[in-house]
Amino acid sequence: MSKIRFFNGEQIPLEMHKVRIVQKLELLPVEKRLECMKAAGNNTFLLNNRDVFMDMLTDSGVNAMSDRQQAAMLVADDSYAGSETFVRLEEKIREIFGTEFFLPTHQGRACENILAQSFVTSGSIVPMNYHFTTTKAHIILNGGSVEEIIIDKGIEVNNNHPFKGNMDIGKLKSIIEENGSEKIAFVRMEAGTNLIGGQPFSLENLEEVKEVCNKYGILLVLDASLLADNLHFIKEREERCKSMSIREITLGLSSLCDIIYFSARKLGFARGGGICTNNKELYMKMRELITLYEGFLTYGGMSVREMEALTVGLDETMDENIINQGPGFISFMTDELIKSGIPVVTPAGGLGCHIDAMQFVSHIPQEEYPAGALGAALYIASGVRGMERGTMSEQRDEDGNEVVSNMELLRLAMPRRVFTLSQVKYAIDRITWLHKNRHLIGGLKFVEEPKNLRFFFGRLEATSDWQEKLVEKFRQDFPDSL
Ligand SMILES: *Cc1c(COP(=O)(O)O)cnc(C)c1O
Repeated sequence: MSKIRFFNGEQIPLEMHKVRIVQKLELLPVEKRLECMKAAGNNTFLLNNRDVFMDMLTDSGVNAMSDRQQAAMLVADDSYAGSETFVRLEEKIREIFGTEFFLPTHQGRACENILAQSFVTSGSIVPMNYHFTTTKAHIILNGGSVEEIIIDKGIEVNNNHPFKGNMDIGKLKSIIEENGSEKIAFVRMEAGTNLIGGQPFSLENLEEVKEVCNKYGILLVLDASLLADNLHFIKEREERCKSMSIREITLGLSSLCDIIYFSARKLGFARGGGICTNNKELYMKMRELITLYEGFLTYGGMSVREMEALTVGLDETMDENIINQGPGFISFMTDELIKSGIPVVTPAGGLGCHIDAMQFVSHIPQEEYPAGALGAALYIASGVRGMERGTMSEQRDEDGNEVVSNMELLRLAMPRRVFTLSQVKYAIDRITWLHKNRHLIGGLKFVEEPKNLRFFFGRLEATSDWQEKLVEKFRQDFPDSL
C-alpha cells in the first residue's frame, strides 16, 4: 500500500482489495443521535449498532473476511473429533509459527484462563510489557500479580520511539533478582500493545527478553492477538528486518517463545483462538483444561467454519499487502488529524487512532471523564462510535475515591478492511469540527455505576445542557446535512 506513489504527489493509502459484499449503513440526523446517546446513558457500549454510522468501538471479531475465507467456510468438515478442518488449521499453525502442538480455544481470554490456571499460583508474578484487561483479570483471579515494565517512552502520549511496546530489560532483571526466579510464573510479551495504542515491540527487544528468560530458566509467553500489526511495523521500522519476509519475521519471533497464544477475533480475520507450543510437557499440562473449559481437542469451542476461515486468514496474514491495510489507514487518519492540530497518540500504531482527550477537552476535570465525554460528543456530531480508555475504564478504590487514569484516550478502532477512505475522511472532518467547538463539550457524571467493569454497563448523564448546545451549533454550521 505504502509503495504506491501518486502522480499528483498526494499521499493516501490505496486499498489492495475490492469490496464484493456490502452492508448498508444508516446515518441518523443529529437530533436523533442526541436522543440515542442519552438513551444509551452516554456510554458508547450501550448504543445499538443500527444507530451507529461508523462502528469504531473495537477491532475484535469485526474484521472483513476475504473471498477465500468465505469459500473455505463452505468446505468445513463437521465432526466432534478428528475433523479434517482441524488438521488443516493445525498444519497452517505449524507452517507459520513452526510449533508442533496446537490447542484450540473459543477466544483469546480462554487462552489466558488456561495459561493462568496452569502456571500462576498464589504470590506468582507475571512481568509483561503492558497488561491487557482480560489477561490481568485471569492472573489476579489465580492469586498472581502483574508487573508492567514497558519502556518509559511507551506511556508518553507523543514520543516518536518506533517501538513503544518494548520491555525495559533492566526492570525485568531487577524484578527477577528482587523476587527470585521461582516466583515468576512466566514473562509475557504482548504484540501490538493494545492499551497503549497498538504500539509494537521489536524483534531485537524480544531477543533481549528471551536472553534474560533463558538465564533464569523462565518461560516466555507471547500474546500474538495483535501480531499482524506488529509484524508490519517490524518490517517497516527495524533495519535488519527490511529484507526479511513476513514469514521469516514470524518464525524469528516464534522461535524465541515457549508459548504463543492469540485471539482469532483479531489475528486471522475470524473468531476463536488458540495456544501453540513446541514443548510437549507444557502442552500436556494445558491439554486437559481445554477439554474441561473449551471443548474437545479438535475444536476447542470454535465452529468448523470459523476454523476454516482462520486457517485462510492466518495464511493471508503472511501477506504484507494485507496486513499493512489497517496501519496504513490509521497512519493516514492520525497524520490528517495532526495537520488540523488535533492531539493524538504518536507515532500511529495498529488497532486504531487514539485521540488524547486530556488535551482535546483540557477544561474537563478527570473526575468528569473527559474521554467518555468526548466519545459521547463525537457520536452526537458524527454517528461515529469510539471507546473510552481513561478514568471511566478504571475502578474506584476501596474508599470509593476515583482512581484517575494516567491517559485519557478516545480510541477509534479501525476494523481491518472494513471502511473506505471517504468514510475515514468523514470521521476526520467531524472530529475537526468538534475540535473547533471543543469549548462546548462538558463533563459526564454516573447515574448508574456498577462496581466492577463500570465502563461496560454504567450509565451517565451530562453535567449541564452542553449536549443540546452542541446540537444547536451543529445545526447552525450544517443546516441541511445529517
Ligand atoms: C482482545 C485481546 C485479548 C482477548 O481476546 P478475546 O478474543 O477478546 O477474548 C487478549 N490479548 C490482547 C492483546 C487482545 O487484544
